[in-house]
Amino acid sequence: MYRAIRGTRDILPEEMGLWHRIEDTAREVFELYGYGEMRVPIFEETTLFSRSIGKHTDIVEKEMYTFTDRSGKSLTLRPEATAGVVRAWIEHHLDQRALVGRYYYIGPMFRYERPQKGRYRQFHQIDAEIIGESHPAVDAELIEMLFFYLNRLGLKRANLMLNSIGCPRCRPGYLDKLRRQVKAKLTELCSDCQSRSERNTLRIFDCKNTNCQGIINELPAIEDHLCSECSRHFQQVQSYLRRFGIEYKVSPRLVRGLDYYTRTTFEFTYPGLGAQNAIMGGGRYDGLVALLGGKETPAIGVAIGSERLVLALKEEGISPPEAVSTFLVTVGEEAFQRGMELIRELRHQGVFCLSDYQGRSLRGQLRLANKLGCQAVLILGEDELKKGVVTLKMMSDGSQQEVALDLLPSTLRRLLYG
Ligand SMILES: [Zn+2]
Ligand SMILES: [Zn+2]
Repeated sequence: MYRAIRGTRDILPEEMGLWHRIEDTAREVFELYGYGEMRVPIFEETTLFSRSIGKHTDIVEKEMYTFTDRSGKSLTLRPEATAGVVRAWIEHHLDQRALVGRYYYIGPMFRYERPQKGRYRQFHQIDAEIIGESHPAVDAELIEMLFFYLNRLGLKRANLMLNSIGCPRCRPGYLDKLRRQVKAKLTELCSDCQSRSERNTLRIFDCKNTNCQGIINELPAIEDHLCSECSRHFQQVQSYLRRFGIEYKVSPRLVRGLDYYTRTTFEFTYPGLGAQNAIMGGGRYDGLVALLGGKETPAIGVAIGSERLVLALKEEGISPPEAVSTFLVTVGEEAFQRGMELIRELRHQGVFCLSDYQGRSLRGQLRLANKLGCQAVLILGEDELKKGVVTLKMMSDGSQQEVALDLLPSTLRRLLYG
């Protein structure tokens, strides 16, 4: 028997209501804020990712699904979406064409990580990017939109962590200082930290090792080493957040693993999700467009983990609204044949209707309708056929009435869809 590959999973229709909820709400909210949907390919040239994400990151070193296609080209299944969107922005000259550089996209990403609750090798993200804006109000507005989105979903307990990781002018000085202090403590750090310390020093802040944490807490915070422009930017982002009544915590550890981030970084966590409690994260990447061959262009974005949002909804006991449905019960061959016409007509009139095709008994059909959670049952037997009616039974109170066939669609719409 075949099974889904480790780290991938099937999303069955019973769970899909929650997925529709997070995706539909994202479309609704993001479009209200001026974002347009973009769909980019699932695979790109490998170097697009290695250049933008950075060679010395876990993603590029260990986690990419890279393969050679039949023409010998090295391709990679996208481990994140921003690189592809920026590639599209440059390729289609959107700097000249787009009046509002706001995009969102929904789809699968791929990383070879150790699977665990809330973490898969094929996972899904909802992402939003603003390309071409540098104002700190834009950073705050993106964060504010995300809170609005979570509220719309019914997720009201998210925590926001915020940081600034500076710019190419102020970060190198900070990194030098950081490297010196890390070097002094090198032998006390775990082997992961030791190998990170030279190549990607900031990543030390990601270490979960308790022994390392004590040392990490003593390291200098980048917030105290920002240049005046970065510092002003960070202060202004915070002042807009306060204006919007948004609570946050400044976290010096929030450095993120991707090289192209500059200035603002942020992460939302949700209580009750265990170790993988980050539901979304993002930040500014003012250097990426130029790095990939475009003009110097500021940008900021967010990636939302769909699996974790679905888990958070379950954690809050939020279930998808039950679909309104009707079940057509027929008794006898003639009623069945007439029923097939009737069900077609009902669907064309916007009524969700199911039926039995296996010749179940009257009782069997009613039992099935009950199991399916149908709100109403239509019974079509010999008597009803003669009179040109169906018997309409409401499952909520068991009440029955005869309804003329030609009045059925309007009656059902009135009773069921209000
Ligand atoms: Zn700076
Ligand atoms: Zn460590």
